[in-house]
Amino acid sequence: MNIDLEDIRPTTHQRVMDLVADAGIDVSDWGNYKRGPDHAASNPKYCYEWAFVEPEQRVVLCLWFDHMLEEEGYVRQRHNFRRFAMELERISGKGTWAKRARALDTAIQDAARDKLPLRVIICEGEIRDVEEEGSEASRVHRRLLDPQPWAVTAYDWMTGDAVLTRSASPNAFADQFTLAEERSASAQRVAVSGEKFVRDPGIRAAALARAQGQCEFCGERGFSMSDGRTYLETHHIIPLSEDGPDATENVIALCANHHREAHYGIGRQKMRETLQAKLRNRS
Ligand SMILES: [Zn+2]
Ligand SMILES: [Zn+2]
Repeated sequence: MNIDLEDIRPTTHQRVMDLVADAGIDVSDWGNYKRGPDHAASNPKYCYEWAFVEPEQRVVLCLWFDHMLEEEGYVRQRHNFRRFAMELERISGKGTWAKRARALDTAIQDAARDKLPLRVIICEGEIRDVEEEGSEASRVHRRLLDPQPWAVTAYDWMTGDAVLTRSASPNAFADQFTLAEERSASAQRVAVSGEKFVRDPGIRAAALARAQGQCEFCGERGFSMSDGRTYLETHHIIPLSEDGPDATENVIALCANHHREAHYGIGRQKMRETLQAKLRNRS
């Protein structure tokens, strides 16, 4: 895929309310405030927010153009708004921004859990270091509603690390860690420390996306889960304990059977070489 980031650089200044409405979010309540419906677009209850949610329908996020990344042929953003909110909470006078960051993290969770389509309002302007005490708010000069849908392609429920990807479908694939994280997320739902996993959820998601549901060793399709996702397991060919890199060249998606075999099979040493060769041939 060939992407030119310049194609999505915003060139006009449109109002947040109009873009949010274009994305399919109900904005009828914006007019319910003291200055009346004529000033709906500047209702402070809404117009400064970073995330807009139509429950169980869709999520709209305001993201900076300058934070766009090109990775593996996709446009992505990597964020941790939960950690950002915690940092803002420690600074006096940043309570409102902390709340907006929390709301953004919650919106990403909604999208990840319910596999909601994500729309992105791309913003350009002066990004201020809001973590600095007394700093001013960032200022948006131009914005546009990206015509392409986005998706939450990885969300680490323990840490809040999120990978947002343009033109990707939400959560079509799952591995053993996704399931464990979803279990712990629904079991605890507590604020957790910013401690980081050794495994980058974005790398696992990239391996699953590359495999497209087929075991990268035998080519068989992983099984379909009751919610429609396809299950495969991700495996570090050279284990992290042997200093194998947490990188797409070292992470392979395998059916559950071949994953166990890669760990415990009599021919596991030979299999390691085969797996490495398979990944070399794919790139
Ligand atoms: Zn297999
Ligand atoms: Zn493994």
